[in-house]
Amino acid sequence: MPQPIVQLKNLDITYNIGKENEYKATFNVSMEIYPEEYVAFFGPSGCGKSTLFYSILGILAPSAGQLLVKGENPYSFSPEKMVKFQTSTIGIIYQAFYLINSISVLDNIALPLIFHSAAPGWRKKHALSLLRRFGIEQHAEKYPDNLSGGQSQRVSVARALVNNPDILLADEPTGNLDSISTKQVMDALEEINQKDKKTVIMITHNAAQLKYCHRVFYMKDGRVERVVSNPEKKQIAKIDRQKMIVSEIDTLSKLYPYSTPIELKVKSLVNYLTQEMPIEQVQKLERSVQLVLERKINKQQFFASLQAEQKNGGVGLSPSAARTAARETEKIMLQSEEVQRYRRRLEQNNFFEREGDLVRKISGFLAVEAGGNLNPTQSKRLKELVHQRVSGLIRQEEFAALAALPLPNGGIGLEQKTAQRLTYYFEKIICQGIETKGHGH
Ligand code: ADP
Repeated sequence: MPQPIVQLKNLDITYNIGKENEYKATFNVSMEIYPEEYVAFFGPSGCGKSTLFYSILGILAPSAGQLLVKGENPYSFSPEKMVKFQTSTIGIIYQAFYLINSISVLDNIALPLIFHSAAPGWRKKHALSLLRRFGIEQHAEKYPDNLSGGQSQRVSVARALVNNPDILLADEPTGNLDSISTKQVMDALEEINQKDKKTVIMITHNAAQLKYCHRVFYMKDGRVERVVSNPEKKQIAKIDRQKMIVSEIDTLSKLYPYSTPIELKVKSLVNYLTQEMPIEQVQKLERSVQLVLERKINKQQFFASLQAEQKNGGVGLSPSAARTAARETEKIMLQSEEVQRYRRRLEQNNFFEREGDLVRKISGFLAVEAGGNLNPTQSKRLKELVHQRVSGLIRQEEFAALAALPLPNGGIGLEQKTAQRLTYYFEKIICQGIETKGHGH
């Protein structure tokens, strides 16, 4: 693996040191960002994202810890070297663009080249080629205040690249943009990462943008709370595979970003129990399921609430529907405990050590769900797949595909429909079995 391009070790950053208004904005932050990675600093306003960002840019010295960019400490640089660093190692784009309104778009882009004593003719040509690349060459001679937000941000992307930097810092790059311009700017950043092979570090509090990144540093109160790798992207950094599982809860947490983990679990289970229920009934059911998942009511009370009439605060299910719902809920909750146990052990032990017993149990539940008659090869494959899915080594779709793949091709050889049903059921168990701590964005 290559050396990190940015390395922070136990970094503290304190504003106004020694003054009455001294304020420590980051605590003990450690991270390594690798060449060609696209990462995000994600978290609520005030959590210290910009503070870290400016520190990496070389304009906010840490009060403790170590900060290295390309293996060097920028705060040890001479003023000349610092200028070179800030203009040619790092390119930056801001939410507010910060274009100079008194000079043309073309000159805005060419300006950083002046520090590198490039010949004027070449400066212009190079700036124009970047404008062309981002589809704004027709605005070259305009002044920035005549541009739309989306055009302005594309100008600042071009400006950030003009010195061919290794790292692109993007501070809430789409914070002021409409959805079409947002997409254009996000596509440009992705291309800069993938085609130009630049390291991209983006600040965002928009969860929808995290899908572009290899890894996300979740920040809270001046600390990095967790680092999450995007399973959809081929990783550059060495990653902790335990953290790779993507379950329905992650998908739901994107749809309902402000829901608590327990609310997401409730939604998942209720989705399973209801098909065509009217909305008020679904809401009542969600309430009852929440109470039982939180263990505030017991099985009998849950069953009673499912059957009670809606006007009495119940869900109003028929006795047989209530029985089915209660039975399914209980089964999934019980089985999910095995997933929980399994994942807890994974986190404590060597990841690749198998927990035979637990895998056997979980596979056993699924074998019943699949209709029972699995031959020894099928059982063996099912166990392998269960292990891989619960460990996050494969995704839901891969599990479904392998379950339906014929035996001679290395699958379990289930009928397509059975494989789908089994996958769906398994995902419900996994979802309930995910530890709630730290989930939900
Ligand atoms: P974010 O980018 O996540 O919104 P910041 O890094 O801007 O957060 O701020 C982190 C904390 O540091 C906040 O509580 C903020 O008020 C404080 N802070 C930021 N800049 C300064 C400053 N120049 N002086 C004092 N405190 C500051």
